[in-house]
Amino acid sequence: MKQTECPNCGAVFDAKETRCPYCSYINPEGAEAKYLKDLEDSRRNLDAVDDQVRSGYRKEIRKGAGTALKTVLIIALILAVVIGGFIYAEHRLYDDDREDYAAELAWEHQRFPQYDGMLAAGEYEALMSAIAEEGEAHDVWNWEHYDEFMEIADGLWGDEP
Ligand SMILES: [Zn+2]
Repeated sequence: MKQTECPNCGAVFDAKETRCPYCSYINPEGAEAKYLKDLEDSRRNLDAVDDQVRSGYRKEIRKGAGTALKTVLIIALILAVVIGGFIYAEHRLYDDDREDYAAELAWEHQRFPQYDGMLAAGEYEALMSAIAEEGEAHDVWNWEHYDEFMEIADGLWGDEP
């Protein structure tokens, strides 16, 4: 190993020592070498820490992205179910309406000619009770002679039911 001589007391010692082992006088050569070595060590430590922090961040970002993606997928699924339900219900209501309307038209087509017959035959009482009863479930006022018959009924029975 390289030796050096103390400029203060003249002792000879290892050049890597930062101070003279006999008088503690500073050894510039050793002190500088140690300073550079310490500097290099802390640089390496910082690099290691930096790497750890960076890989930690990457892991966190991946985890965060995974959670965000899962949340988005779950929300999308819920929205799809809710919107799909609404669309389905709307179509069902629309279909039901159409079926109801078709059934009502069929009923009127079959029943109103019978009303015509009763009106023509002067069967006012039978006609009145049929209209009163069937008016609960059907649009009896669509009958073409409805207003006309109501005037006849008014003349016969007045405003009394
Ligand atoms: Zn010395």
